[in-house]
Amino acid sequence: MSIRIADHVRDIPRSGIRDFFEIVQTMDDVISLGIGEPDFATPWHIREAAIYALEKGRTGYTSNLGLPRLRRSISDYVRKKFGLRYDPLAEILVSVGVSEAIDLALRALLNPGDEVLYHEPCYVSYAPSITLARGVPRAIETKAEDGFSLRADALEKAITPRTKVLMLNFPTNPTGATMTAAQWEEIAAICVRHDVVVLTDEIYSELTFEGGTHSTIATCPGMQERTVFLHGLSKAFAMTGWRIGYACAPAPLIEAMMKIHQYAILCAPIMGQDAAIEALERGDESVASMRREYERRRNFITRALNDMGLECLKPKGSFYVFPKITSTGLTSREFSMQLLQEHKVAVVPGTAFGPSGEGHVRCSFATGLDQIKVAMERMAVFVGGLR
Ligand code: PLP
Repeated sequence: MSIRIADHVRDIPRSGIRDFFEIVQTMDDVISLGIGEPDFATPWHIREAAIYALEKGRTGYTSNLGLPRLRRSISDYVRKKFGLRYDPLAEILVSVGVSEAIDLALRALLNPGDEVLYHEPCYVSYAPSITLARGVPRAIETKAEDGFSLRADALEKAITPRTKVLMLNFPTNPTGATMTAAQWEEIAAICVRHDVVVLTDEIYSELTFEGGTHSTIATCPGMQERTVFLHGLSKAFAMTGWRIGYACAPAPLIEAMMKIHQYAILCAPIMGQDAAIEALERGDESVASMRREYERRRNFITRALNDMGLECLKPKGSFYVFPKITSTGLTSREFSMQLLQEHKVAVVPGTAFGPSGEGHVRCSFATGLDQIKVAMERMAVFVGGLR
């Protein structure tokens, strides 16, 4: 008997990052600038709160929507940091990372054939998640000359009568792009005019540099009622392994998402939820100190890349830089493969983030400065040898 996989699953490619890192894992002494996760362990006070909760025997299921206390913490956090008000009883769902929340929102919203727009280069999961939810992914290319921001005219052009959702992620993985409040006003007006629902993935919002304030589309006039605000603790609080994210949205949509979550997952793990309460209520200083370190690394790596002739915007947020490598004459995959095999530095080919990532590679600075310095020395030798 041959097992026949569903067509829409069979046709999805595996993540380009995963394939690449399977090669990395077979090699010794590689410096990896490829990882999209903090090199810090979760701050001690957060781990300690989780240990204490475990000691008290808190090991069971929680409410499907998440611990009520955590939902109150999320509501307070989102009000203080973003100026958004959500009812913790009906408008917040705690998920297994932002990853699950994206899937829930798409599955709750899409009928087969509905189109979902997203700006590209983008996080690797967006197009496959749309396909898995039976939607049709439609990329809008963003460009280095616009700082990889989403242009209103490009959005307007991409909208069709089948467009239902726009997915956003600023600061952006992999480009580090951010958007200003004025740019959001323009995008929001288009979404309202065309009745588009917005999914905004705010996972890097705490990691904006130079004291820059993060601005979200959810606060624009007419937007909160058509926005799914997605956030999580993985990046800013260095909590990737705890698997806690959350979605804030109008109650009927949270109810629909909850039905999928209830049958597929039941609830996010209680240990992560207990840790998240401590993080959101008392984690500001820990986040600020990690952000200062990321900023120091960002300043170093951006300068080093530009000095070796790889044009590179200084990212305003996230922990990624996205230098242009076209001057080397190599494709982004050739560049990454040769750099890995000849100089043992791992970066991610820009095409892992969609075809419009060609001509770039992603370097993460969620790695210690010592390692970044050695990686930049090796990369300069590699690039110098190509000229
Ligand atoms: N969204 C973006 C833009 C990401 O870069 C990532 C992880 O790299 C995620 C979501 C996944 O986050 P989580 O760990 O909360 O599932």
